[in-house]
This record gives sequence, structure tokens and C-alpha cells, in this order.
Amino acid sequence: MPRLRVYELAKKLNMSTKDLLQELEELGLDIKNHMSYIDEETVKLLLELFEEEEDVEKSKPATKPKKEEEIKEEEVREEVLVAPEELQVNTLALKMGVPLNKVIQDMFMKGVVLKPNQNLDERTAREIAKMYGYKLRLQQETKTEHVEEQISKLQQIEKYFEELYIKHADELVPRPPVVTVMGHVDHGKTTLLDKIRKTRVAEQEAGGITQSIGAYQISYNGKKITFIDTPGHELFTEMRARGAQATDIVVLVVAADDGVMPQTIEAYNHAKAANVPVVVAINKIDKPNANVEATKQQLVSKLNLIPEDWGGDTIVVPISARTGQGIDELLEMILLVAEMKEIKCYPKGPARCVVIESKIERGLGPVANVIVKDGILKVGDYVVAGPIYAKVRTLIDDKGKHIKYAEPSQPVMIVGFDELPNLRYAIYTVEDLETARQMSEEIKDRIEKERRSKRRMTLEELLKMMEEKEKKELNLILKADTLGSLSAVQSAVESLKSDEIKVSVVHAGVGPVTESDIMLASTCDGIVIGFRVKIEPQARKLAEAEAIQVKTYEVIYDLIESLKLAMEGMLKPQIVEELIGRGEIKKVFDIKKVGKVAGVQLLEGKATRDSKVKVYRNNMLLFTDEIETLKHFKEDVSQVEAPQECGIKFKNRADFQEGDELEFYQLKEIKRVL
Ligand code: GDP
Repeated sequence: MPRLRVYELAKKLNMSTKDLLQELEELGLDIKNHMSYIDEETVKLLLELFEEEEDVEKSKPATKPKKEEEIKEEEVREEVLVAPEELQVNTLALKMGVPLNKVIQDMFMKGVVLKPNQNLDERTAREIAKMYGYKLRLQQETKTEHVEEQISKLQQIEKYFEELYIKHADELVPRPPVVTVMGHVDHGKTTLLDKIRKTRVAEQEAGGITQSIGAYQISYNGKKITFIDTPGHELFTEMRARGAQATDIVVLVVAADDGVMPQTIEAYNHAKAANVPVVVAINKIDKPNANVEATKQQLVSKLNLIPEDWGGDTIVVPISARTGQGIDELLEMILLVAEMKEIKCYPKGPARCVVIESKIERGLGPVANVIVKDGILKVGDYVVAGPIYAKVRTLIDDKGKHIKYAEPSQPVMIVGFDELPNLRYAIYTVEDLETARQMSEEIKDRIEKERRSKRRMTLEELLKMMEEKEKKELNLILKADTLGSLSAVQSAVESLKSDEIKVSVVHAGVGPVTESDIMLASTCDGIVIGFRVKIEPQARKLAEAEAIQVKTYEVIYDLIESLKLAMEGMLKPQIVEELIGRGEIKKVFDIKKVGKVAGVQLLEGKATRDSKVKVYRNNMLLFTDEIETLKHFKEDVSQVEAPQECGIKFKNRADFQEGDELEFYQLKEIKRVL
């Protein structure tokens, strides 16, 4: 059958061109008009489909395909057993008892074109089976329990890594530190990274770097250090926001001719929020106008960082990224901090890696550039990267060399993925293909569930959540239009103190709300507050995706009031007792089946059904109780007022007598204010 124009096919099918065009559109085919060509393969398929459609409809009621979401677990009760070599559309249809045409048509509707005897990959076969409520079992698989055991492998591996450092505390060994270079623009971050790479790597490896894999490793005095290639806090914070803390130490670069600038402060705040130790490199000391002492002074006044030689504990190293002066000392200091911080890993077993970047590399397909955190990553390993998995085909190191395995802190490029790994997920190695497949499926399900439940959290909800977690710290990121208003807002916000809730300004800066602010908020469960500034469109999108609340204000009073109200809302209300009436027991009735009832003369105020009652004898408190029934004559009432009489049956006590005095109280919640 040659290719046909739409109208020609319509004629063949004995239908109007218009109807056919509509049908084709519903099938998702991109056909423009009646003169458009339909290729040979599709024509054949369409002919089969349309000509046999009637037959299908006439035959026994075909199993209706179900949308995936319609299939509940319990509905997948039947298994369809297929030998791997029989994984063909027709065999599968036959085994499920679904007409072959139906399967082809339903898959066509999903945009997948299948031929009757086409071999299926496992994933598609499973998808088809699922559509009709079946679970596909390949013949060599050993029953469902096996599947369950595999599913729990995800939990097993998560638990394994969670407990790794506890269970193997004795076997942990130091691993090289991973360093990120941060600082203000033009202060020399890139120059420093280049200089270290050139001098340190070129010395050891002829040819130097040929491959950029997001990070590189150097050796200094026989010890290794890994540097993340991308300077600045954006990647650092972005990685943290997705839960991947790769960096162990931050080198904060401050130019000696420019001093501490806004981005220096911002970078430092990001490092501080992440609780990552900072080594300060005062750069460009070769410049005639460099002033190391003045820069140190600014470190103290603007960042509250006191250099070691001034009696503090901040390591400050004067360097020149251009001449290389001081760089050895900087490396020494990095290693010293690494040693002090005891950066360790578990060097055996399955690997876990953080992903720095993923991209399509020419000739290699989708790759993930990672840093191994624990274990050993080997060529041939099966890896799970969130919802996708792969067999590691090749590992390429930072010198462009193919390597057989990568150790902790080593940056490496993983080749072998079919799809681009999502940066959000750590990469784990698992024992075999089946485990990898099962784990990625489970993660996929989790993502779907998460996606459905994720929505924007309001300030109030956040506070409530904090309350539940007993976390009483409100982290704020403040952005304002000018330095003056920023400091006004900051001091006003900081004055909003309470014993129960601590307000922390994690970062304060001048300028619009940016993506970086949102990421910071995301990492510290914070809220972004803008004062007379706008929110950048990208930041707004990210805030929505990350469910971060961004509030903007024009008037400082509104800002403070809104924060105050929200905070007051989370203060536990004070419960006070309010005296509403007094009375005296005149008589005690002992009523069959009911028990003792007090006949009370109200002397003052009222008694209500929900009052709390204090009973006194000789001016001494006898007991406190609640009212079970309150009667006026024979009637159940909710309230009795003085000077009426009433009958009271207490909830718990019956040891009262004539002459006892009663006080009626109502509990009142008093909203606490700051
Ligand atoms: P980044 O924006 O922090 O990455 O800064 P760059 O590394 O791009 O450096 C900005 C400018 O400062 C460039 O022109 C560099 O050549 C220059 N620079 C960087 N480090 C030094 C240094 O130690 N001494 C001098 N004189 N210039 C430097």
C-alpha cells in the first residue's frame, strides 16, 4: 500500500474527508488538510484499524482499557505470564484475552504505533498489561513476593545509607574535602580556580585537563582536594535546595582592592545557612592599591568574622590568583579545616553520589557529572537516579581519562543513561538490573504522590508546621529597595521577639527578590519578605515550584503587623478561669439509678452546663469537677441564673453535703500578643 493523501484514504474507507480528518486529529496525528500525505506504514495501520473496528465492536464486549489512574492496586489481581522471548503484541493480547486490534488501537491513542508481531520491550509490555488490569510477570520471575521484596529494596538502600555512619562508625575514613569558591563578582573566583587547576593538575598529569565535568581534583602534598568548577553561591545553594550538599568547605574570595561587597555578604550568608566552614581568601594582593588590613577590618565589621591573627577563629589567607602567591598556603588551610572537621566517608559497598550537572554530551548521550560521596562507583554497576536507571557504560574522570572506578570525593562523568538524569536525585548503585528497575519505578510513584500533595504553604501553615515540629525559629530572607529601608526593616523585624519564637534574618539584601533568595528560603524552611521591591519572574516561578512563600510590602507597618499577627497566631493561647456564679447546696437527693444530686440555691451570677465547679467546705476546696446534668425543676437546662434553684449531678464526685459552697467557672482562651 503506497502512501496516500487524506481524501484518497477517506474514499478507501468509505467515509467523508472531514470525518477522517477529525479521526486523525483525535488519534494525535499531525495532519494539516485533505491534501496531506499519510505515510505507507500509517496508512496500513489505519486501514486495519478502521476496517476492523466494526468487527471489534460487534464481538464480545471488549475489555475496556483503563486509564492508569483508574487502576487501583486491588484491581491488578490477574497476572499474565509471558516468556521473555514471547514478548510480542499478539502474544500478549492473546494471553490477556483482549482483541489484538484493540491493543493496537488503544496504544495508537496513546501515541505508540505497534505492529501485530512487533517485539515489545519490557516497559511497554508492562504498560499494556496494566491498561487492562493485568500485571505482567516474566516467566523467569519468581512470583509476586519476589516483587515485594524488590520494592522494599528502595527502603533498604535508603535505610542503609541513613544508618551508614552509625553502623560503620569504626570503619569511616577521611575523604578529600569538596570545595566551592564564592564571593563578589570580579573578585577573582574564576582566576583562582583556573590557577589552582593549571598549577596543580598540570604538574601531575601531562596534557592537563581535557574534560570539563563540573569539578576537578588536585593533589597537594599527597593529599587530594576536589574543587567545584562553577564559582559562586548559585550552584551551591541550588544543590542544597535539592538536598544535595556536595560542598564541605567554602573559600570566600574578597578582593583586597574592593573589600567586602554585597555579594560577599550574600555568599557568606549562604555558606553560613548551610553550616559549611568558610576560609577567606583575600585576593589581588599583588595590586598596588590592595589593602589587606582594611579588608580584614571589613570582615569584622560587615560579616562579624574575626581573623585568627586578630584573635578570632576565621582563617584568612592573603593571595594573588594572578601570580599564585599564597595559593599553597590556601590549599594547606583547606586541608587543615578538612582535618579539623573530620570529613569522612564509608569507602566500601554501594556508591552514593551527588549530581552536579547532567547534560547531553556529544557522542556519549545523556551523562551525569557526579561526586562520589560514599562507596565505590564502578563501570558495569547498575545505578538508580531517581525515576530512571542505567548500567554504567563508561566512567570519565576530570582529565578526560576512562577509569574503571571512582572513589569518594572523586568527580566523575557517568555515561550510560537513556534519559537525562534529574539533578534532584542522588545516584545510588544497586546490585542488579531488576533492583534498579524496581527502585526507579517506586521512586516514580513517590514523585507522583508528592506532586499531587505539594502546594503552596502559607505563612500561617508554615508557622503551624513549626509548632508541630516544636521548631520555634522563623527564618526570613529580607529584600528591600535601599540600604536605609533594609536596615529599618531588619531592626523592626528583629525586635519581634518572643520567648517561644525566634525570628532569624538569614539573609538581608538590597534589590529584587531573585531565584537565589528563593533557593535560600527553600534550604532553611524560610519565608522571603520583599519591601518595596519586585519579585523577578523566574523567582516567582521557582517560589511556586518550591512552595516558598514570598510576601511583599510597601509600608513597614503592614509588614510588621502581618508578621506579628502570624506569630501571635502560633503562640499558645492562655487559658484563664472566669468566675461566673456562686451557689450553696441546700439539699442532697439520692435518686435511684441516677445517684446523688445536689439541690443548689444560686446566690450570685449563673451556672452553665459547661461550667467548671469548685466545691468548698468550711472555706477549704473539697474538689473541682464538671457538670453532668443541670436541671431546673425537671427540665434539663443549659443555664440557671441567681436567685433560681437547680439540681446538679457532677461528672465524677458524689461526696458533697448540705452547706457546701459552690463556685462556677468558665474557661476562657485569651489570645496572647507579642
Ligand atoms: P570572578 O568574577 O570572581 O570570577 O572574577 P575573575 O576571576 O573573572 O576576575 C576578575 C578580574 O580580576 C579579571 O580581570 C582577573 O584577571 C582579575 N584578577 C583576578 N585575580 C587577580 C589577582 O590576584 N590579581 C590581579 N591583579 N588581578 C586579578
